[in-house]
Amino acid sequence: MTVKYLFIYSIDEKKFSGKIPLSKKEKIRMAPCFMHSFKSHPFVVLGGFIMIDMHYDLLSVIYQCYLRMDYTYLDNWMKNYNLDNVTGLIANLYFMDKEQMQEELGYNYDEINVVEMFKIAKEILEKYISLDNVILSIEGCSYINNLEELEELYNLGLRNILLVWNNSNKYGSGNDTDNHLTEEGRAFLIKAIDLGICIDVSHMNKNTFYDTIELLKEQKAQGKKIRVIASHSNSYKICPNKRNLDDEQILALKEFNPVIGIVTYSDFILDKRANKDQLKEYFVKHIMHLKELIGIDHIGIASDDMTFDIALFDKDFGPQVFDYVSIRKDIEELLKDTFTKEEIEKILYKNIKNLLWEELQ
Ligand SMILES: [Zn+2]
Repeated sequence: MTVKYLFIYSIDEKKFSGKIPLSKKEKIRMAPCFMHSFKSHPFVVLGGFIMIDMHYDLLSVIYQCYLRMDYTYLDNWMKNYNLDNVTGLIANLYFMDKEQMQEELGYNYDEINVVEMFKIAKEILEKYISLDNVILSIEGCSYINNLEELEELYNLGLRNILLVWNNSNKYGSGNDTDNHLTEEGRAFLIKAIDLGICIDVSHMNKNTFYDTIELLKEQKAQGKKIRVIASHSNSYKICPNKRNLDDEQILALKEFNPVIGIVTYSDFILDKRANKDQLKEYFVKHIMHLKELIGIDHIGIASDDMTFDIALFDKDFGPQVFDYVSIRKDIEELLKDTFTKEEIEKILYKNIKNLLWEELQ
């Protein structure tokens, strides 16, 4: 099969808006997506947004499929990426602590090569979808060895970093520990800012968070462009989970014009007095609270959908509020009694699009 054109569908205009003739080189690059396990999925180019998921571990899912040489899970997941559902995302490659990484990857953690993993996952992703609607992200920078590697990753397309996962690492400290941002961490963040990478503060403990805020202020004062998100963190006031942000933290972010991704994962939504039937009600409460505190222009949605853990690792982390198959429609339906159409569009994609897509790519 020879592919001569890519057809572009514009969601904003609700029509096919054009076609791109492929060069010989592009035809060769894209050839594999019409072969083997990729053959059931047309290469997807979407000309606009309807929902951007601010945190989905797609690069990690892809790398797992690669290790297993079985792309069934990915093939099925890709059906969720369509004109009626999710049309853009921050695709994340996560790095947990050494034991957990060793368990998931099946090889020794000191063999982890982030650049190689990122490259492989990106190349496979590119066979499925256009990267125009995707921001590539790394969560837990522990295994990025130095600033040269960070630059290499930037050159490969990295545009968002979460310095830490739950554990402590050489750069800073996640919410299961109390350490501060380290000197190495400061240099790492400054390099990231200079490269134009977005700084994602989700998972930071309070010490690392406030050290980062101070650093961002210094950098901003030097006239540097700072982009900040909390890709998947809810309100601590509504759900006192240490992964969430309290009001003081949310207000400390405000001067950097952030977008905070409200997570659809149950543990970050409900407080202890609530029951599972109240997930949707509480999900709305988080959004309402953020709107009051920081304004509608700073809210996004992050699925952090971990149902892949059931299929790939036989682990179940508990329910998500929405089924990913219909997440966009379900959120719209849930929010429409409380928010205007314009507000819902801002939450679903406009805010994060304005922050990350206008310049970053
Ligand atoms: Zn996370």
